[in-house]
Amino acid sequence: MYDRFNRRIHYLRLSVTDLCNLRCQYCMPAEGIQLLHHGDILTFEEMVDVVREAVGLGVDKVRLTGGEPLVRRGIIDLVRMIGEVPGITDYAMTTNGTLLTEYAAPLKQAGIQRLNISLDTLDAERYETVTRVGQISEVLAGIDAALRVGFEQIKLNCVIQMSPDEPDALAVAAFGRAQGLDVRFIRQMDTLQGEFWQVLGGTGGQCVSCNRLRVSSDGKVYPCLFSDRVFDIRTLGIREALCGAVAYKPESGKTSQNRFYHLGG
Ligand code: SAM
Ligand code: SF4
Repeated sequence: MYDRFNRRIHYLRLSVTDLCNLRCQYCMPAEGIQLLHHGDILTFEEMVDVVREAVGLGVDKVRLTGGEPLVRRGIIDLVRMIGEVPGITDYAMTTNGTLLTEYAAPLKQAGIQRLNISLDTLDAERYETVTRVGQISEVLAGIDAALRVGFEQIKLNCVIQMSPDEPDALAVAAFGRAQGLDVRFIRQMDTLQGEFWQVLGGTGGQCVSCNRLRVSSDGKVYPCLFSDRVFDIRTLGIREALCGAVAYKPESGKTSQNRFYHLGG
């Protein structure tokens, strides 16, 4: 699929749940979030159909995200079902890593090839402050588990305020070097203000080479994280919604009401 600006769209990011076991300050509002109704969340079968249709339209790269994807009940079955769709050459997940001690091995068996794990600091207190509820020991054990079961291309996603020279970022970079993991720095963004930045060490945030579509767990296709236009799979049908979103992709992002926990970053 090509959009109006001749960009090839071949990357689908699918949020499998809006639930999360953390409450990161830059992602969730302090007052908590309005959860989607259970019946609004796409079933496993619908998610597989979305991926199959997307692959038929030229998608070859799929990333599962959330909320926190590993809190969706039955996630390993879903991962396997999606992984069986022929034509996916790059199959990845973005996770906060806290549940990987339990899930790293089954995820690998179910077909996930690459993991991005979010880690903003190595300081236990700072981690608890940033995530409001998290324990850093769980993520570190999760990273360890992922390495032990043989995930080879683990990347750490590290949200920074201004620069990769901040103390937290430097510590994460050193940890990455010691563990042989790539680190991508992402400046904290604000969709409401239209503040978005290029991912340092990654491909996100570069509008000229944007190749992605985002699907929320309630089946809305978003042309861009920074656009409020959505194409609803359940009302339009999968193909119409995907093609509509591609046709509507803006040349570059503006502002939106979208929140990261809803669309998975
Ligand atoms: N729960 C999973 C996790 O944290 O990795 C997946 C979903 S999370 C929304 C995906 C990514 O978005 C994470 O790496 C997170 O740090 C990032 N993120 C969330 N809010 C952000 C913001 N305001 N600015 C930049 N990145 C953000
Ligand atoms: Fe949850 Fe990920 Fe958002 Fe943190 S960044 S609150 S882990 S969805």
